[in-house]
Amino acid sequence: MDRKSYVERLKEEVRSLCEKRRAVILAHNYQSPEVQDVADYVGDSLELAKKAVTVDADVIVFAGVSFMAETVAILNEDKVILHPVREAGCPLADFLNIETIRKFKEKYPRAPLVVYVNSYAEAKMYADYIVTSASALRLISKLDDETVLFGPDKNLAAYVAKKSDKKVIPVPPHSYCYVHECLITRYHIEKARDERSTAKLMVHPEVSPSNQEMADYIGSTSQMLKAIDKSDENIFLLGTEEALSYRARNLYPDKEIYPVNPRAICVDMKKINLLNMKESLERLKHKVIIKKKVRQKIKSILDKSLEMIK
Ligand code: SF4
Repeated sequence: MDRKSYVERLKEEVRSLCEKRRAVILAHNYQSPEVQDVADYVGDSLELAKKAVTVDADVIVFAGVSFMAETVAILNEDKVILHPVREAGCPLADFLNIETIRKFKEKYPRAPLVVYVNSYAEAKMYADYIVTSASALRLISKLDDETVLFGPDKNLAAYVAKKSDKKVIPVPPHSYCYVHECLITRYHIEKARDERSTAKLMVHPEVSPSNQEMADYIGSTSQMLKAIDKSDENIFLLGTEEALSYRARNLYPDKEIYPVNPRAICVDMKKINLLNMKESLERLKHKVIIKKKVRQKIKSILDKSLEMIK
């Protein structure tokens, strides 16, 4: 008789605990294949936050990094939100602290502060608007202001500035995601193109501006997936965290889809695994708790921002 693998057994245990707890698993596009496989829904941070609101469950296990789990908790007052590994944070989000925000607001008192969703609640509290990589350009283009403060992520700020007629000041000026800035470089792109010369190159706007220029398409993870769906092309190189390629291949099995760099790994995303998800469901840990005042304030900014891009 075939012996089930450790991973298969864990998957079954996680699913049975989900039934027992009336729980659903939401997993980010950058999660490992086995976490994506066991999840009820896979998507980008905004898609998952929206799904969390409509899903019929008592408990949500969030497989992603902590700022995303916070957003899900802000939008879901009535559900228990579990984040299996508290330490799964985001080095990009760490760039935007209150002291930096105050300094830039003092220097540019009339410029609205647009905060990237890849930030912690304490920073979002100071935002005039909150955007994702998919909505940043659309929302900032609609503002009447000529000058806009945007943070964290200098590369996304540069992308929006280039595509809009706005002066977009990055807050702070040196903020970046190491996966996109350091692991999707010209070297990785040229090497991947040598191996697959006919592939269409897609990159995330968090890669540096000079590398964005090499791409056939620039977009967020959800925008890349939609663009693959619409495209007549068959071979794609994705310049973002490597796990999006697994997600894309599952969605479009007839297409050939590869990461630009198979070693472009977000270590924090990969801190979530089947074992700590199982333990999270068993012990109902770690609950994401957001203070009422913080939740109400951020929710109102999120609602206003979503209304702007309707
Ligand atoms: S990929 Fe970059 S922005 Fe996304 S969670 Fe990891 S470090 Fe943060």
